[in-house]
Amino acid sequence: LVSRDFHPESTVVEAAGVRFGDGQRPVVIAGPCSIENEKQMLDAARQVKAAGGQVLRGGAFKPRTGPHSFQGLGVEGLKLLRQAGDAEGLPVITEVMRIDQLEAVCRHADILQIGARNMQNFDLLKEAGRSGFPVLLKRGMSATIEEFLAAAEYLLAEGNERVILCERGIRTFERATRNTLDLSVVPLIRQMSHLPIIVDPSHATGKRPLVPVMAKAALVAGAHGIMVEVHPEPEKALCDGAQSLSGEGFASLMGEVEGLLKYL
Ligand code: PEP
Ligand code: MN
Repeated sequence: LVSRDFHPESTVVEAAGVRFGDGQRPVVIAGPCSIENEKQMLDAARQVKAAGGQVLRGGAFKPRTGPHSFQGLGVEGLKLLRQAGDAEGLPVITEVMRIDQLEAVCRHADILQIGARNMQNFDLLKEAGRSGFPVLLKRGMSATIEEFLAAAEYLLAEGNERVILCERGIRTFERATRNTLDLSVVPLIRQMSHLPIIVDPSHATGKRPLVPVMAKAALVAGAHGIMVEVHPEPEKALCDGAQSLSGEGFASLMGEVEGLLKYL
C-alpha cells in the first residue's frame, strides 16, 4: 500500500488544514522537545507562529533513554500544548508512546507522532492506524528503508492513508553527531513511495549550529517539510537544549528557508 508501484500518484496528506506533499509549500513543524510549563509553551508558540512555522510540536509523553530524566507532563502537558496552539492558531503534534495514551492524545492533538523508538511497535501502529488521525512516523534509529516503509504499511493497512514519514538520523559508528542524518532516504523514499517525507535535523545532529544548514539541505534534497526543536530558553530546556534553536535562531532559519524556496 505504501509503494509507488501500487499507488503511482504522490499522496498529499492534509492534516488540520496543513498539506504535506508534492506541489505544496514545505511544512515547518517547530516547538520544544518537551512541554515544560504554560509560559514556556505560550512563548514557544508565539515564536513559532511569528517566524512562519505552520505546526506546533511539544512532547508530553517522553521516551527518555534513562528513567531519571524528565519524563514529560503527561495529560497536563497535552492541555498546555493545545492551549498554546489555540492561542496562536497553530495545529499541534505530539508523540504517543502507548496504546493507552491514544485516547488522550487524540483528544488534544491534531497529528499523532510515533517516535523512532516505537517505529516497530506494531500494536501501537495498528491502533494509531485505526484512530483515523494523521500520523507522523519517525524512522527507527536502526531501521532500514524497507523496515521503515513496512512500519508505515501497518498504518495504511488499517485504512489510514494520512501518513507522513520522518527521517531523524540513524545510528552509525560516528559519535561527533548525535545520529547520522541519512539525507539520501529523501529522494529514495520519494521514488519508492507515494507518501510525503520530512526531515528532523534536530535529533539527526544533536547540535544547534548544524540544525539550520541540515534543515536547508533537507529541503534541497526534496523533503516535504522539516521538524525543528525550538525553545524560548534553550540553555534551560529540560530536554534536548543543545539541539534546540532559540526563537531568534528559528526566525533566522525561516528567513533563509524563505529565500531558498524561490529556487526550489
Ligand atoms: C521527538 O521528536 O520528540 C523525539 C523523541 O524524536 P525521536 O523519536 O526521533 O527520537
Ligand atoms: Mn527532542
